[in-house]
Amino acid sequence: MSEHTITVAGVAVDTRHWIGGERVASAGTFTDVSPVDGGVLGEVARGTAAEAAAAVAAAREAFPGWAATPREERARVLHAIADGVERRLEDLAVVETADNGALLRSHRRGVMPRVAHNFRFFADWLLRLGHEDFDTRGHTNHVDWDPAGPSVLITPWNAPLMLATWKVAPALAAGNSVVLKPAEWSPLTASLLADIAAEAGLPAGVLNVVQGYGSEIGDALTAHPDVRRISFTGSVPTARRIAASAAANLTPLSLELGGKSPLLVFADADLDLAVDLAVEQYDNAGQVCLAATRILVEETVAEEFTRRFVDRASRLRQGDPRDEATDIGPTIHPRQLEKIEGFVQRAVEAGARAVIGGHRREGQYFEPTLLAGVAQDSEIVQEEVFGPVLTLQTFGDEEEAVRLANDTRFGLAATVATGDEERARRVTGRLVAGTVWVNCFFVRDLRAPFGGSRHSGVGREGGTWSFDFYCDLKNTVTSPKGWRDHG
Ligand code: NAD
Repeated sequence: MSEHTITVAGVAVDTRHWIGGERVASAGTFTDVSPVDGGVLGEVARGTAAEAAAAVAAAREAFPGWAATPREERARVLHAIADGVERRLEDLAVVETADNGALLRSHRRGVMPRVAHNFRFFADWLLRLGHEDFDTRGHTNHVDWDPAGPSVLITPWNAPLMLATWKVAPALAAGNSVVLKPAEWSPLTASLLADIAAEAGLPAGVLNVVQGYGSEIGDALTAHPDVRRISFTGSVPTARRIAASAAANLTPLSLELGGKSPLLVFADADLDLAVDLAVEQYDNAGQVCLAATRILVEETVAEEFTRRFVDRASRLRQGDPRDEATDIGPTIHPRQLEKIEGFVQRAVEAGARAVIGGHRREGQYFEPTLLAGVAQDSEIVQEEVFGPVLTLQTFGDEEEAVRLANDTRFGLAATVATGDEERARRVTGRLVAGTVWVNCFFVRDLRAPFGGSRHSGVGREGGTWSFDFYCDLKNTVTSPKGWRDHG
């Protein structure tokens, strides 16, 4: 083990970059702290612009070989990575929980199996991706999915490996080489992924991982002329910076951003189901981009809904995310906790009433909170908190419900609870959102398009849409004339 290897929950993690198939240290480091108990996990390489450029150079060098690798072989390597993820599932789960504080049981049973599935799904989809041919007055048009080139993938901390591999897998499947920049608050599982990919036989330089602060190395990655694609998941202000930086080279972008999604509860809904859906929004301590944080309830059932919600939410157990019985873990970082607290304080000062919660608790915890008496144009209704804070508003009829639901600058997701199929069709048709769930939440199929409208994102990934983004589509038109006679 090198001096750069730390042990996290019994698992050895190399904290250096992974560039061109080698571990590369930085002169500087940053300290990675666990949200579980505030303990220091270790020092992680603090990347510089030079290391970011080295990672792009390695990706550029490796690109032609990987792009020319037959699809079947690329798919085989992706399945081998999935095998490696499954073999090391427990290691990945415990390290991720130590690093970002999300529930260990979710990592074990939901998140890490999904990480493996990301690789298997895009490997299989690659093999099904057809070449389209069509005819123009006897000329053939042949459409190819050409790999676009080195791709920079920048990811957030709330679901680190799941969101990283949701980009890495299709980018690699498409034949691109990759530079992955994980978030500085949760850098560790990306390093384990580099080990797993190398063991699976992914050639050196096809996947590179650079660690560090986005503010320090972001521009070196996103303004680099050799980068052909940038896929980013994170906040709106960072997306603006990345878009500005990418503009120099007109580098195509996929942006998966924040949300302020509504849950519409109609009087005809199964109220217990609606309450379950509402309480589910506290998952991952509310640090979920898709969370329906604005609960909109039809006036006639608002009192009953609130009573059942309070009863249900009061039974949630908040505590150590490694404990099987815990429902809500800590927030990721003291800064995030301060941000959440600030939002709630300002909302209360502006007249909101905490139906439940409203305060931080010892450690890095914020109580599950429901705020009523909030105005539609207030900060707490319009801005993403990214913590366990929901708002409660009422509506008189369908028209008002749709108006309130659509009245933010976001459009990531929406959830509708209703017992009336006709109403469901009418309402979902009018909602502005990348994903709409009816009487369910967080059901995701990788074949479906995923992304956000308005400030929640640009573009869609998932299934063929991922290949659409990571490939350069090429149409070759061939005349029937002009062939030499091969006799
Ligand atoms: P963030 O924007 O602060 O950081 C995201 C990533 O960008 C990190 O890796 C960071 O280091 C990097 N970064 C920062 N400055 C950069 C720069 N100038 N250039 C390049 N990279 C830079 O976001 P966050 O706080 O890590 O994540 C939370 C946000 O992510 C929330 O808004 C949430 O809604 C959003 N999110 C969206 C989705 C989605 O699929 N739509 C999923 C998860 C999270």
